Amino acid sequence: MIMHLQKGFRLRSTVNAIVTLTVLATMAISSFIAYSSEKQSLTHTTFQLNQVYADKISDTVNAVFANMKHGLAITGEYLAKDLSRPDLQDYLELFQKSNSSFNSVFIIGKDGKLVESSNPAVKRGSLIASDGTKQALEQKRSLISEPYISAATNKLIVMISEPLYDSEGRYSGFIGGSIWLHETNIFQTILGSAPNESDGSYAYVVSSKGILLYHPDSSRIGEKVEGNPVIDHVAAGLNGMERVVNSQGVDMLASYAYIREAGWGIVAQTPTEVVLTVASKLVLRIMLYMFPALLIFLIAIYWIIRKLSDPLVKLASFASMLSPNNSGRDELPKIHSLNYEANELHKAFGRAVRHFRYQFDNLSQEAQTDPLTGLNNRRTMDKYIKDWISMSRPFSLIILDLDHFKLVNDTFGHDVGDEVLKFLANNLRRLFNEDYKCCRMGGEEFVILVPNESIEVALHEAERIRKYMAETDSPTGGKVTLSIGVAHYPGFASNAEQLFRIADEALYRAKHQGRNRVEAAQALSPQEMTI
Ligand code: GH3
Ligand code: MG
Ligand code: MG
Repeated sequence: MIMHLQKGFRLRSTVNAIVTLTVLATMAISSFIAYSSEKQSLTHTTFQLNQVYADKISDTVNAVFANMKHGLAITGEYLAKDLSRPDLQDYLELFQKSNSSFNSVFIIGKDGKLVESSNPAVKRGSLIASDGTKQALEQKRSLISEPYISAATNKLIVMISEPLYDSEGRYSGFIGGSIWLHETNIFQTILGSAPNESDGSYAYVVSSKGILLYHPDSSRIGEKVEGNPVIDHVAAGLNGMERVVNSQGVDMLASYAYIREAGWGIVAQTPTEVVLTVASKLVLRIMLYMFPALLIFLIAIYWIIRKLSDPLVKLASFASMLSPNNSGRDELPKIHSLNYEANELHKAFGRAVRHFRYQFDNLSQEAQTDPLTGLNNRRTMDKYIKDWISMSRPFSLIILDLDHFKLVNDTFGHDVGDEVLKFLANNLRRLFNEDYKCCRMGGEEFVILVPNESIEVALHEAERIRKYMAETDSPTGGKVTLSIGVAHYPGFASNAEQLFRIADEALYRAKHQGRNRVEAAQALSPQEMTI
């Protein structure tokens, strides 16, 4: 099958597509904007929360350190008066236990040997050659050490120390307190509950050299972290917030605060992913809420587009049917549109089609009728006869010829002759209904085609018109009579030619027998009909 190639997109599909695209684009853009702004505000909030937390921890640790140092200093000052007293160990143990911030408390002599420790297991008099010890002995001042492995206990510790002076004011070593980084310690107590741990947030503490002092993953304590800008910044004494990729490759929103007392830093951070997930969930929820509304909106728009385009679609399909073969006989579709342009178009279209039809009708009227009398012309008559024979429709043929018409012309003039022709035509129209096809065959000869089963009806009708003409004054002022021949199809003849021949013969007989008469034709014999 050859498809009729269609040029151009259909209006309705095009507008529908544009609307759908617009709605989708709007949805996408608004989702994107909602997502970005939500992400931004969540990021900001997260930074703030982490910052508040880091600041608070920094303050707490500062206070605790000040307190620890103070405690060490007071205790040291008191004990330094007599380092050989027998209850030295009891004092240290009492101090350590009453001040839960230290895991152990000890005194080192200026020779670097252990004088006494709160931990009874450590050997007195042994040389404690750790980094922290050396540093404290060299600098002879209040110190917080970098993490190191304690020589006495073999634990990773940081040490807080205060120098000791005897009653004469001579330096006699230091009193130290250690925090065991891998054991329950002060950091765990303070940092034990990071903000919102459930979403992956956590906090850690680094020394000024970037060594992890506290981390929720205890296996990382003591690790030196390289290349993390947050650690660089906080170790440099700065407070702030930054988005970083941590050493595990996780994108983080980190806020950090400097711990002044120790020169350390605290970092509180939340995975960026958390913020993104929350933002996308929100956008998803917005879209979910928007969806039914948008759907209703779309359906409404589709409906309106349908309503608006309907008249145009109808007009277009009507217009596409118009062709030389189809002169718009079909009714112009009825249109009740809310759309002004569609209504105008419909009106204009209606006018054009009516004009078109009128012209067409006139032309076809002209082609079918005789201009003088308005009766069917010979061509139309031939067409009726052909159609009726092809449909095997029985009918009678009445041929009428005005008597002595030449004389009418000669006596009254051609114009009056014409008037007589029109007079006859009007009488035919008036006397016979529309089923009878009255035709002017030419000159002053007329034909009536009478659809019926028998010739009797036609003879009767022929007699009626003959009588009428014979009794009625014509435009000449007198009577103009008719001679008439009548034949029947298919009773008398088997084709149009035979039918005309025998009807003409009947007419001839009528003329011959004195005119103003009706004569029935003589039926052809079956043999004659087949010739
Ligand atoms: P008959 O009784 O034997 O039929 O005599 P007739 O004079 O009617 O016959 P004829 O065939 O001799 O004359 C027909 C005339 O009809 C001749 C012609 O001038 C005239 N005629 C034909 N067509 C027209 C027409 O349109 N108008 C007028 N006024 N006369 C016409
Ligand atoms: Mg004639
Ligand atoms: Mg005549």
